[in-house]
Amino acid sequence: MLNSILDAVNSLLPVRRKTNSVSGWTSFNAVCCPHRGESSDSRGRGGIITNATGSISYSCFNCNYTANYTPGRHLNYKFRKLLTWLGADENTVKRLVIDAIRIKELVEPNTVEVEKEEVSFKPRALPAEAQTFQALETFHKLSDNADTPAHHAPVLYMAQRAIDLQKYECYYTPEQQYNLHRRVIIPFTWQNETIGYTARAFDAQVKPKYHSSYEPNYVFNTDRQLPNAKFVVVCEGPMDAMSIDGVAVLSNECSEVQADIIDSLGREVIVVPDYDRAGMRLVDNAQEYGWSVSFPLWFGTFKDINEAVIKYGKLFVLKSILEARESSRLKIELKKKKLNNQL
Ligand SMILES: [Zn+2]
Repeated sequence: MLNSILDAVNSLLPVRRKTNSVSGWTSFNAVCCPHRGESSDSRGRGGIITNATGSISYSCFNCNYTANYTPGRHLNYKFRKLLTWLGADENTVKRLVIDAIRIKELVEPNTVEVEKEEVSFKPRALPAEAQTFQALETFHKLSDNADTPAHHAPVLYMAQRAIDLQKYECYYTPEQQYNLHRRVIIPFTWQNETIGYTARAFDAQVKPKYHSSYEPNYVFNTDRQLPNAKFVVVCEGPMDAMSIDGVAVLSNECSEVQADIIDSLGREVIVVPDYDRAGMRLVDNAQEYGWSVSFPLWFGTFKDINEAVIKYGKLFVLKSILEARESSRLKIELKKKKLNNQL
């Protein structure tokens, strides 16, 4: 098991290769370049080196592509691409992804956090005027007292959106903060530290709908993923993510860095796009990253997960997402084509 990824790589390497006994590099014609818009290598400029801990590094001295794998880490996007370019088929890559997760459990049991050190986001404070809702306690108190509308509106809004305010602490700013008022402030955390926020308007007159502050490539809600969960649901918006405890990429596209953050959770990834044309971009990304996609039975009746949760509740929606998940590329492609004609 521990060597399965190295064994697979060795069996995929081109027959024409040579190993330098001093440096340890095995060189062969690079497999990456034509896939990256560069001319093919015919001068043996691709190289692989392994070390005693079992880590594998690929470097191309023609187009500068690099890919690495270290036991205890997940098989990241760049390494999976390399495997494909070396000639691995879809099933082999899927098997190796699972092997990497098993190896991770052997090497570092119960550590979801280990790989997050690779990525970091600088701490950013919430707006100075931000005040906490104090969750439902406030809600109950205020619902008897109509004289305090400043507090009431944001709490009521979140309750109507079916967000569990005891789990997700949210904030608001007093009315006079003209650029943030009539918004709910949702903190963004990374390793339990605040690194930004989004302020969601709860009044349709307030534009733009979101006012946000955070670094690119952030994935919302990874801190709340349970260490032993079997899957993670990826959606577009923070409201969707909070309503089913999934993660959000905060856009209709998922970058490679975001994909690596999500893959590093080491579990089945299920993408649920929004029901619109732009949402199909996220489906394209899911196919690229080898993830499952779900088009639940309510898909189309509601435009996103949050709308479905408001109507049917969290458990039903989660169950429907799991039941409709599809991992076959062909089936995802067919469903996407059908949707593209409807949207
Ligand atoms: Zn190359």
